[in-house]
Amino acid sequence: MTQADGAAALEALHEQIRACVACPLSQTRTQAVPGDGPVTARIMAVGEAPGETEDRIGKPFVGAAGQLLTKLLQTVGLERSDLYITNVLKSRPPGNRDPLPEEVEACAHFLDEQIELLEPDVILLLGRHALQRILPGAPGISRSHGTRIRDRGRLYVPLYHPAAALYNGSLLATLQDDMRKVRQYLDEAEAERARVAAQAMSDAEAEAVAAAHEQLTLF
Ligand code: URA
Repeated sequence: MTQADGAAALEALHEQIRACVACPLSQTRTQAVPGDGPVTARIMAVGEAPGETEDRIGKPFVGAAGQLLTKLLQTVGLERSDLYITNVLKSRPPGNRDPLPEEVEACAHFLDEQIELLEPDVILLLGRHALQRILPGAPGISRSHGTRIRDRGRLYVPLYHPAAALYNGSLLATLQDDMRKVRQYLDEAEAERARVAAQAMSDAEAEAVAAAHEQLTLF
């Protein structure tokens, strides 16, 4: 798929999400919050559900938790625009209550489609709801935060939710440490990609030399 086709497919998916009335949250939300970021992002972050500010503005992580997330990313040299950010639920639960299982069920296919479309190198799972939804068999967030989990060909890193770290200094320090690990995982993934590309290049060169040699020996 070309970049333009990918961007068009993502926008079409966002439109479907905005029009979705599959669960009762569609009646209480101001608007749905599909996701934000380029279709070319190699990093995806998945939160829980839109809060009050997100519901009003229509973009994920634009309130206080979002501002903390942006700062944390910047401390390891990443910008928000390097990520595609979305949530398990695309509509705000009233009063920011926890998502209900039937709401997660109704919304789940959208997140699956977003992941399939972007094919990100790494997916950051922000908080226990994202972790439970995507890796239901994994240890809880207090054990798995900051670790790399490979599952069916994808790489996940569970992290504490930035909202939890807003008023808890020790969680904030843990989240900062974990963000440094994310940076390291990304650097390693990048180095591995470069190594594979260099290997493919030298294999192709070796083949070209062998083919040229074969041509010469035919004459
Ligand atoms: N918390 C979330 O989980 N998602 C948002 O978009 C905002 C706050």
